[in-house]
Amino acid sequence: MTESQFIWMDGEFIAWNDAKVHILTHSLHYANSAFEGVRAYPTDRGLAIFRLQDHTRRLLNSCKMSLLKCPFDAATLNNAQVEILRKNTYKADTSVYIRPIVFVGYGVMGVYHLNSPIQTAIATWEWGAYLGEEGLNNGIKVKISSFTRNSIKSMMGKAKIAANYLNSQMAKCEAKEAGCDEALLLDSEGFVAEGSGECFFVVRDDVLITPPSENALESITQDTVLAIARDLGIKTERRRLTRDEVYVADEAFFTGTAAELTPVREVDSRVIGGGKRGETTRRLQEAYFDIVYGRNAKYAHYLTYIKG
Ligand code: PMP
Repeated sequence: MTESQFIWMDGEFIAWNDAKVHILTHSLHYANSAFEGVRAYPTDRGLAIFRLQDHTRRLLNSCKMSLLKCPFDAATLNNAQVEILRKNTYKADTSVYIRPIVFVGYGVMGVYHLNSPIQTAIATWEWGAYLGEEGLNNGIKVKISSFTRNSIKSMMGKAKIAANYLNSQMAKCEAKEAGCDEALLLDSEGFVAEGSGECFFVVRDDVLITPPSENALESITQDTVLAIARDLGIKTERRRLTRDEVYVADEAFFTGTAAELTPVREVDSRVIGGGKRGETTRRLQEAYFDIVYGRNAKYAHYLTYIKG
């Protein structure tokens, strides 16, 4: 990874290499930590964070769900994300990833975590296309996972918490080992849930379809893409999707803060549509980048400029 100069930790800016924790940090053992993935894009007015307030709201909701008493309120966390980007220096054309994390610190061992200290950190670094530039333009290969998405009977999929990502990690490794780029996970009833770190869309007969959030994170990018589709006059549906329907879709793509809008060209050896980025996907992708790079005035309220 590309290192930056500073990390914000528990209210202070410290040097990147000094942002350390003890080996007996509770979250390292029991996987209760809430985190976010946020992006800042270079606009003609400098770096701007995309939907910062929505990410921070989700972070604090994840904390609430997993009983993490975050010592900082939303305003402080928002401000810290702006300030860390002011302190770290990036080239003018660089897109920056922001990773706030709230975790259980050092001092008490055992599963019960409510007597342990809670720590908060925000790191930022340069991060290009999560699924590759080639994937962004020409689409990726996907494998439907043999792992079922975490059941809502035992996990909380609407919390962006570390524990949920073992399931994602196993699915991702399985997909990569099978020569694919990403995994698509089904829920316990066999309907499409989400990717290992993305939401999923298909286009069938000119209708854009994405599953409800029942078995998935409430995705900020998915919400943005649905708004764009309405702007472009594309019919949208939020309904359950089955794997056979995915195989015969005209187009398919993943969405996520890291993955942005990445076309899918193949699922389980079935070529999707023309086997490359489809026309609807291209239009949505173009409109998404216009918004995040500050080229669409209608969505200017989604951007928090670093220079103020
Ligand atoms: N699902 C999972 C499991 C994720 O990790 C992510 C990435 N945060 C998403 C969906 C997409 O969410 P968002 O668009 O808010 O980044």
